[in-house]
Amino acid sequence: MKRFSRLSIGMRLALSYLAIFLLAELVFGAGMWLILRKNLYDIADATLEGQAADLQRFLEARKDLSAERLQTEISADYKIDRSQDYVQISDADGNSIYRSQFLEEHPLPPVSLNQLSKPRHQYRRLGRLPFRILSEKMAVDGRIFIVQIGGTLDEEMETLEDFRGYLLMFAPVLLLAASGVGYWLSRKALTPVDALARTARTISGHNLSRRLEPLHTGDELQRLSDTLNEMLTRIETAFLRITEFTADASHELRTPIALIHTEAEMALRRSRDESEYREALRHILLEAERMARLIEELLALARADSGGEALNIHPLDLRPTLRESALKWSQVASLRELQFEEYSGPQPLTVMGDENALRRVIDILLDNAFKYTAPPGKITLSAEQRGGRAIVSVKDTGIGIAAEDQARIFERFYRVDKARSRALGGAGLGLAIAQWIIQLHKGSIAVESEPGNGSVFRVEIPTTKSAVEEYSASQ
Ligand code: ADP
Repeated sequence: MKRFSRLSIGMRLALSYLAIFLLAELVFGAGMWLILRKNLYDIADATLEGQAADLQRFLEARKDLSAERLQTEISADYKIDRSQDYVQISDADGNSIYRSQFLEEHPLPPVSLNQLSKPRHQYRRLGRLPFRILSEKMAVDGRIFIVQIGGTLDEEMETLEDFRGYLLMFAPVLLLAASGVGYWLSRKALTPVDALARTARTISGHNLSRRLEPLHTGDELQRLSDTLNEMLTRIETAFLRITEFTADASHELRTPIALIHTEAEMALRRSRDESEYREALRHILLEAERMARLIEELLALARADSGGEALNIHPLDLRPTLRESALKWSQVASLRELQFEEYSGPQPLTVMGDENALRRVIDILLDNAFKYTAPPGKITLSAEQRGGRAIVSVKDTGIGIAAEDQARIFERFYRVDKARSRALGGAGLGLAIAQWIIQLHKGSIAVESEPGNGSVFRVEIPTTKSAVEEYSASQ
C-alpha cells in the first residue's frame, strides 16, 4: 500500500482502473456464463419433458400389458427410435422394465420413489459425456413407473466453452485498453500540474513578481493556480513592505549617525572653548535621543509584526490614564504658549485594555497635535461613551492634513512634510504604532481634518460589556 501511494497519480489511476475493470469483468463474465448455462439447461430440460410426455402416452396406450409384455414392446419400439437412446424405466420397487443399451453400459444410480415427489433434473457425466437427466414418477392406470430420460449436452457444453473462450480472449484486451486510456486521461489532466510545479520551482525571493501561467480549464486546477497566484501576490506585498521598511529604517538611522559624526568631527578639528564643546555635545545628545526613540519605535513595530508583543489586557477605567497624560501635556502647553483642555465626564469609561499601550496612543496623538499646532492654538483631549464604545478625541487647531494625505498618514514612515516632521523629531512611525495598538483592542482610529483648520483624531474602543463579549467571542 505504501509503495502504491508512492507511485505517480497517473500510474495510480491507471492501476485503479485496471483493478476496477478486472473485478467488473470477473463479475460480468461469471454472471453471463451462469445465465447462459441455465438457459441451455432449460432448453435441454424442456426437450426431456417433451420426451417424458411421449413416454407417458406410450405407457397409457399399453396399460393392460403385463410387465414382461411391456418390456418386449418397449424394446422393439425403441430400437428404431434413436431419440430414446438414454431411457430407463423401472417399476415402483425399482425393478428394471426397460434400459437402453447405453444405460446398460453406463448405469445411472438408482432413485427411490420418495425422492421423486416432483420431477428431478440433474447434470451428470456418463462415460465421459455430459448429460441432463430427468427422473420422474409416472402413474399409469394405478401402476407407478420410475422413468429416467437423458439427453446429451455436448453441443451446449461446446457453446459454453466457446463463450468462455471469447471472454478470456477479450478480457485482457479490454483490460489493457481501459488502463491505457485511464493512464492517458490522467496524464492529460495532470500535465498542467507539472507545468505549475516547474514554474513554482523557479520562483524565489528574487523574482517574486513572477506568476504561474494562468489556466483556463475552469476546473480544480485553475482554482489551484489562481489561489497560488493570489498567495504569491500577498507574499510579494508583504516582502516588499519588509524590504521597504528595512530600507526606510536604515535611511532614518543613517541621518542621526551622520549628524553625530559631523558634529564630533567638527568639534575635534581644532581646539574650542568649553561652551562650544558643550553646544556640540548637546547636539550629539539630541541626535542620540532621537535615534534611541527611533530604535524603540522600530522594535515595537517589529514585535507587532512577529506577534511577539503580548498586551496585558484587562478591564480598565480610561479616565485616570487620560488625566495623567493631560497633566503632563498641560505643562508642555504652558511652555509652548498653547491652550490645552481635557474633558472626560463623571461616568467611568471602562474598556478591556492595556494601560501602558493606551497611554502610548494618547501620547502619540497629543505629541502630534502639539507638534503641528503653532501658538496661540488650542488642543483638546476629550472622552465620552456612545453606543457601547469609548470615544477618545484629540483635537487641534493646527496646520491640518490634506485629504489625499489623510489615508496615508497611518502608513509606516509616511510624513506629509518630511523635513518639518524630522525637525520636530518624528520619523513617521507614531500613527502606525497607534493604529496597531488600537487594532489589538478591537477598536478603530480615524482622522478628520482640513488644511489650515486643524485636525481631530478619534479613537473608538468597545466598552466593557461589549468588549468582554467581543473578546470572549474571539478567544
Ligand atoms: P511623525 O513622527 O512624523 O509625527 P506620525 O506617524 O505620528 O509620524 O504622523 C505621520 C504624519 O502625519 C506626520 O508626519 C504629519 O505629517 C501628519 N500628522 C500627524 N498628526 C498630525 C496633526 N495633528 N496635524 C497635522 N499633521 C499631522
